[in-house]
Amino acid sequence: MAGTLEKIRQAYRLFKSIDFDQLNKLSKKVDLQKVMEGFSKLDDRQLKGLMKMMEGRKKEKVLPEINADFYELHLRLSDEDRALQLKVREFMEREIAPIVNNYWLHDEFPYEVIPKFAELNVCGLTYQGYGCPGKSFLMEGIIAMEMGRVDASIATFFGVQSGLAMGSIYLCGSEAQKQEWLPGMQQFKTIGAFGLTEPEVGSGAAGGLTVTAQRTADGWVLNGQKKWIGNAPFADVTVIWAKDLGDGEVKGFLVRKGTPGFNVDKIKGKMALRIVQNGLITLDNCVVEEKDRLQNANSFKDTARVLQMTRAGVAWMAVGCARGAYENALGYTLKRKQFGRSIASFQLIQNHLVEMLSNLTAMQSLVFRLSELQDQGLLKDEHASLAKVFCSLRTRDIVSRAREVMGGNGILLEHNVARFVADAEAIYSYEGTKEINSLIVGRAITGFSAFV
Ligand SMILES: Cc1cc2nc3c(=O)[nH]c(=O)nc-3n(C[C@H](O)[C@H](O)[C@H](O)COP(=O)(O)OP(=O)(O)OC[C@H]3O[C@@H](n4cnc5c(N)ncnc54)[C@H](O)[C@@H]3O)c2cc1C
Repeated sequence: MAGTLEKIRQAYRLFKSIDFDQLNKLSKKVDLQKVMEGFSKLDDRQLKGLMKMMEGRKKEKVLPEINADFYELHLRLSDEDRALQLKVREFMEREIAPIVNNYWLHDEFPYEVIPKFAELNVCGLTYQGYGCPGKSFLMEGIIAMEMGRVDASIATFFGVQSGLAMGSIYLCGSEAQKQEWLPGMQQFKTIGAFGLTEPEVGSGAAGGLTVTAQRTADGWVLNGQKKWIGNAPFADVTVIWAKDLGDGEVKGFLVRKGTPGFNVDKIKGKMALRIVQNGLITLDNCVVEEKDRLQNANSFKDTARVLQMTRAGVAWMAVGCARGAYENALGYTLKRKQFGRSIASFQLIQNHLVEMLSNLTAMQSLVFRLSELQDQGLLKDEHASLAKVFCSLRTRDIVSRAREVMGGNGILLEHNVARFVADAEAIYSYEGTKEINSLIVGRAITGFSAFV
């Protein structure tokens, strides 16, 4: 009796669940009686097969959009700033992404894109006057990230021009020097380079440069070598930091292209940032007029002011590099199938993706705050150093996981992750290695300098 009652209840529930409106519509399209007769002739195995076929025809799963700004930091930007961020992103994806692998492979620079950069009007973004936009350090960071997200070499070219070279003139130049150089550099009509590192003096630049500057009646005579100088092989002006043999202090000199005694050899055979044209500069009794000495650079402290300003940008660039690798790797895992399923559905792959996103989100939050400090005039060396250490270290981890989840294709340039893996190595080392930046932070938090 109980069994019969339960069967009646089940039948009632089934009956109630029928959508008669839908059934009515369906009956106008198909002969339901015939369909039911057909089904009743099928055995269990045939019915299961039919169900499987129908499931296979289910709508394609709608996947979430790739969003590497997981905590929606862009919501903190004004509409105008957000529009600028998207403008730079669109430019990088349209103008740079399609050509970048080929240039990287051949160790060459896409000179034809330089005038297009001028149209973006983002060079010298934070400087006031001289045709510069006078915007925030936060936006400068975001632009470095957007460029790095597509290509770290192009972001580096831009960083040298806008940050190191223009920054040296903006912070250490006289009014006449700023008027002479900055408007043309802002428009990319004049390309700049920044020469601090030497073949035998890298991390230890603060401890003593070997390039010398001798004061003469005609100006200054520079001698020695500079290594790794980005943009130098084609730059119109290179800032050379040299030790004044008179007072022993470091001074800055604006050396114009073609000056006798100024020779640049392109550094070949790099495994990272291959598009960046790095030069080995030889200064052989190179004469520079007094008017081309940076008038407000009186010691290494002034060089350090430039480096402090630009170091935050390198941290942002690392974030961009990591972001580009993450986005490309996630996209790949969603498309790639193994064992009949998307590899993004595997637990171990998801673990990599989540580790990458966690670090990326932490990095983005960190640099965002770093730039806020800079905009408030509160930035200290140790703030910039901590961000540079953390972001470049985590970037190495992210790009390596990005490569890993792509299997063999991860090492092919065409899949747009291999380049980031290589480029992360240079970002890790330039503008202060991990060790040097750690020592800067270590000194700040302990009070002990552990430099040597
Ligand atoms: C692609 C690229 C672009 C560059 N662009 C420019 C540019 O445009 N202009 C420019 O001036 N320079 C440029 N550089 C140079 C860059 O800034 C230096 O490479 C960097 O400062 C490190 O110097 P180094 O390579 O001589 O290494 P080294 O100083 O020789 O360091 C070697 C190792 O020793 C460690 N080390 C050094 N001192 C200490 C210490 N006291 N305690 C513990 N460990 C220590 C370092 O951390 C590193 O691991 C560029 C470099 C690269 C790779």
